[in-house]
Amino acid sequence: MSILLKQNYHMHTTRCGHATGEDRAYVEAAIAAGYETVGFSDHTPFPAGYPRNEYVRMAHDQLEGYVSSVLSLQKEYQNDIRLLLGLEVEYYPNWFEAWQKFTSPYPFDYFLLGQHYVGADDNSYYSGRPTNDPTVLKKYVDRCIAGMKTGMFLYLAHPDLLDYQRPNSPEYASEMRRLCEAAKELHVPMEINLLGIRENRPYPKQQFWKIAGEVGGDVVFGVDAHSPDALSHPASVAFAEDMVRRYGLHHVQNLL
Ligand SMILES: [Zn+2]
Ligand SMILES: [Zn+2]
Repeated sequence: MSILLKQNYHMHTTRCGHATGEDRAYVEAAIAAGYETVGFSDHTPFPAGYPRNEYVRMAHDQLEGYVSSVLSLQKEYQNDIRLLLGLEVEYYPNWFEAWQKFTSPYPFDYFLLGQHYVGADDNSYYSGRPTNDPTVLKKYVDRCIAGMKTGMFLYLAHPDLLDYQRPNSPEYASEMRRLCEAAKELHVPMEINLLGIRENRPYPKQQFWKIAGEVGGDVVFGVDAHSPDALSHPASVAFAEDMVRRYGLHHVQNLL
């Protein structure tokens, strides 16, 4: 038997250039699916001057419209669902201070850390690209840990995004153990990404979650909805629940 997912903090909008559906359609789909709390966490914009990839994230001048749309839906549907305002954010050391300044005027409820790139910005190495390079593996883990250490993030999205081609190697085990131990120590939950399950992506990586179970620490489910229909997909929830049982993971639900 599958539990019903009651919270989901991972949801996008068309502004990122690779999602579909009106903002309102996400909220209505979430209500229909029986959620108590959902949050929009679209891919964050960075301030003007950032070398943006338009298929990855909204432009800097779309932030205001994003915030006002979510806040007005929040009000409109307040009797039906608790709607939160968030963003999914890469930790780019050279942009972090400017990003904080840029987003600080708005009443965000939370930020997710999602390290889709390992280098300086979106034009650098994509974390999900298959690799055999242990230095990339280490770089990814270092970056995720540095991001978590800022204390700014509600949880770490798809921590197993890095697609290392030797997941049974000692170097994968030791680097991912380092990541899991840091998350536990910093009290940052890690996400089993339901989009990866729905689309049969290389993540969730079973080897990663086995290590996560040995280390301990909190685990959260994230729908990572890029279309409203993704909010109701019981098979992916059931798959994630099986992982929780298989690896003895500590699944937490109500983060905010
Ligand atoms: Zn996305
Ligand atoms: Zn996402």
